[in-house]
Amino acid sequence: MMDYSRSWQELRRKQRVAWLVLPACIPVGVVADHFHSRLLFFVLGGLWCAAGLFAFGRVSAFPCPRCRKTYFIEKLRKNPSSVRCLHCGLRKEESSDVVETEWSLVQDSLPKLEWGRLRRFSDGMVEARDADGKTEWFASVKSAHAWLSEDGLVQLSSLSSSKLAAIGLLPDDLAPPNWST
Ligand SMILES: [Zn+2]
Repeated sequence: MMDYSRSWQELRRKQRVAWLVLPACIPVGVVADHFHSRLLFFVLGGLWCAAGLFAFGRVSAFPCPRCRKTYFIEKLRKNPSSVRCLHCGLRKEESSDVVETEWSLVQDSLPKLEWGRLRRFSDGMVEARDADGKTEWFASVKSAHAWLSEDGLVQLSSLSSSKLAAIGLLPDDLAPPNWST
């Protein structure tokens, strides 16, 4: 099982800091009022705003421990209270593991090997990676296959060995790449 506990811990810490910055506007107001200083009010108020933007910005930029994309932002969609990654659907505080990996090749490029990959995770989500290294997430294997096939990727298991041998590819040549993620 992939352990994401450190990432979740980091997120909780960042969120706690962000929420602590909010009530700091009260002492800012009290101090400025005590000294009857408008300048002090603007200076402290400005610092408070900057600290708030920084703290909430760090939460917004939090990378999902599974897909490494921004957990709370997806293109124009932003949801800082989301409990699922807006890209891969990973639930907060949860871990996941790869339960199935399937390799594919761009058929038209053979005998040149251009790999694609599909990985199914324990929460049912499916990651597809095309030959250019672009990844997308899907709720079903079927949708992931459809996306991969748009790039001409065909499952390795569906390519017949005699056909591959005819273009000079032996089973030993077909070792999938060693992608770390
Ligand atoms: Zn994710």
